[in-house]
Amino acid sequence: MANSKYGYVRGFEQPDSLLANTWIVVRIDGRGFSKLTAKYKFNKPNDRRALDLMNAAAKAVMKELPDLVLAYGQSDEFSFVFHKDCVLFERRASKLTTTIVSMFTSYYTFLWSTHFLDTPLTPPLPSFDGRAVSYPSDQNLRDYISWRQVDCHVNNLYNTTFWALVQQGGMDARSAEKELVGTISSDKNEILFSRFGINYNNEPEIYKKGSVLYRDFSSPSESSTPTPPRRTTSPPPLSHPQPRPYTRPISQPLSLPILPKSPSSSG
Ligand code: ATP
Ligand code: ATP
Ligand code: MG
Ligand code: MG
Ligand code: MG
Ligand code: MG
Repeated sequence: MANSKYGYVRGFEQPDSLLANTWIVVRIDGRGFSKLTAKYKFNKPNDRRALDLMNAAAKAVMKELPDLVLAYGQSDEFSFVFHKDCVLFERRASKLTTTIVSMFTSYYTFLWSTHFLDTPLTPPLPSFDGRAVSYPSDQNLRDYISWRQVDCHVNNLYNTTFWALVQQGGMDARSAEKELVGTISSDKNEILFSRFGINYNNEPEIYKKGSVLYRDFSSPSESSTPTPPRRTTSPPPLSHPQPRPYTRPISQPLSLPILPKSPSSSG
């Protein structure tokens, strides 16, 4: 059938292989989660069940795809990092992205009931979009992760302050929003501390910084079993780069970026 007179249509497909020897990041993001969080009455500003569910789905994805070395998650998004040497699907962006998106969505749906015990999912069901970007240098990848983590920090500080004004300060959403217009991070810290006795530094790390999953290369696994990813909110271990041939599963130390100790305090 491949050689039928119809086969020429394959020529309409556009090549989309990502540059060799670059880190490939697939970021997925929940579609319309502002609505979804309202529908399922997520705790605001952070529903721990939802974050645990995101992390559980991401962990399952990492277990199934040994080429993934690192994943970073916050809010309704997760960034999955394929190793530079990855040749899965000839590095085709559409194949990599759609595989991650569908696998993640399947696990998110499958695992929902173990995290939201009394809240069954009903249509419209959760869905995610995704994109693939390749980053040539370790510094680029590190900056990418920092960019997502700063986003987490800025949003979480805003949301924490906003919801303190609403939930503890008795303000309506509009007044709380107005109150925060033009404030910088030190103003928000001050509002939290002086008006609500909240020291932002003592908020849970997972809310302030997001979650990191990484494949543990330090364990003596030279076997063909991929090392299961571990969940942690601390930075991945530093290791020195080693010249390595492409092997699957990846079993040698990599030079992975580390996250900044504390995110930028702007915003
Ligand atoms: P889009 O389809 O464009 O992504 P969206 O409504 O999903 O639209 P986002 O910018 O992705 O927009 O925002 C995600 C929303 O989900 C935010 O309002 C965020 O506060 C909320 N959210 C995500 N995770 C949680 C959580 N664990 N607890 C509470 N709220 C959450
Ligand atoms: P890839 O990941 O490359 O797509 P694959 O194993 O899914 O690998 P396909 O070329 O997509 O390869 O082939 C799909 C396989 O699933 C075929 O072997 C096909 O016979 C089988 N299959 C799909 N649907 C059915 C069905 N309804 N009943 C029986 N077999 C099916
Ligand atoms: Mg989006
Ligand atoms: Mg979203
Ligand atoms: Mg989002
Ligand atoms: Mg198939």
